[in-house]
Amino acid sequence: MSMQRENSTRIDKDEALRLLKSADLLDLGEKADRIRKALHPEGMVTVVVDRNINYTNVCINQCRFCAFYRDAESPEAYVLSEDDLFKKIEETIALEGTQILIQGGLHPDLGLDYYTALLRSIKARFEINVHGFSPPEVCYLAKKHNLSIRETIQILKDAGLDSIPGGGAEILSDRVREVLSPKKIKSGDWLRVMEESHGLGMRTTATMMFGSVEEPEDIIEHLDVIRSLQDRTGGFTAFIPWSFQPGNTELSRGEGSTPVMQSVIKPATAVDYLRVLALSRLYLDNIYNVQASWVTQGLKLAQVALRFGANDFGSTMIEENVVRAAGVSYCVSKEDIVNAIKAAGFEAAQRNTYYNIIRKF
Ligand code: SF4
Repeated sequence: MSMQRENSTRIDKDEALRLLKSADLLDLGEKADRIRKALHPEGMVTVVVDRNINYTNVCINQCRFCAFYRDAESPEAYVLSEDDLFKKIEETIALEGTQILIQGGLHPDLGLDYYTALLRSIKARFEINVHGFSPPEVCYLAKKHNLSIRETIQILKDAGLDSIPGGGAEILSDRVREVLSPKKIKSGDWLRVMEESHGLGMRTTATMMFGSVEEPEDIIEHLDVIRSLQDRTGGFTAFIPWSFQPGNTELSRGEGSTPVMQSVIKPATAVDYLRVLALSRLYLDNIYNVQASWVTQGLKLAQVALRFGANDFGSTMIEENVVRAAGVSYCVSKEDIVNAIKAAGFEAAQRNTYYNIIRKF
């Protein structure tokens, strides 16, 4: 199910590296914009109305780039009650939301029963797409219950899980993961969850967090494994690159069992973001949608991103806690998003999880 454009010449890893390192920024942007226009000639930029719901902040992984997690003993540790969860979903639906993105830490006391009961209770009450439980959560549950990844996904799917977000990818290079998140799943596990989900008929997104300790080669490797998997399955709806937000993280403080030299961290500038975004649009010739990340870059740079390959503004984010924990918080309403899209010269439309248009603004 590949959508690789006919007559196009696919760029290889060497060419991609050259472009990332030394192409003229505006040339790169123009190439990406041409592809965006060819794939989305109607000049429409989409957004999904949804809410991020983080059911717990307790996590045993303790990733060094993460400002969100707490130890189980922390006074700030929480597990969301059913009442609070339902209230959040009701509010989302009242705002014409069609999806909840439900993700959380790896809580040592929560097993598959908790997850399946949660899904069933949501589906019994609400008509809403549940986009949830990224690969680290799926792998954690598989290991905890001695199940295969496929069996675990099937159980979650049967309980009501609709689609899986691409969180936890960061950079799909185990060298980088060893520095950023030594306890987290390896690249192969992330890819396996995605491949199995696609095999079970589910759609997922793919993400990339750059601007920490990776080299340009690692970014290319990441794009390449995503493109190869998409060639096999066609199951990714979108690619979402964003940059590391260092505030309040162990990585930014230089702590940990093997402290990372601050000089090794290379926070992405606006130009770095645009280069990676444009290159992603060029390289991933088999993924229709590329998202601009206003949550990490702000609305102004997200507007520029629409001329560097992006055709989607992600989510209206009625609630967002993870990036906020790193000290980055843009106070943005749905109207702000729609106005930003229109001011950039595009039509704005609400989409669902599967990128079907629901209405135009
Ligand atoms: S990034 Fe996810 S897996 Fe890592 S510590 Fe934070 S919540 Fe846990």
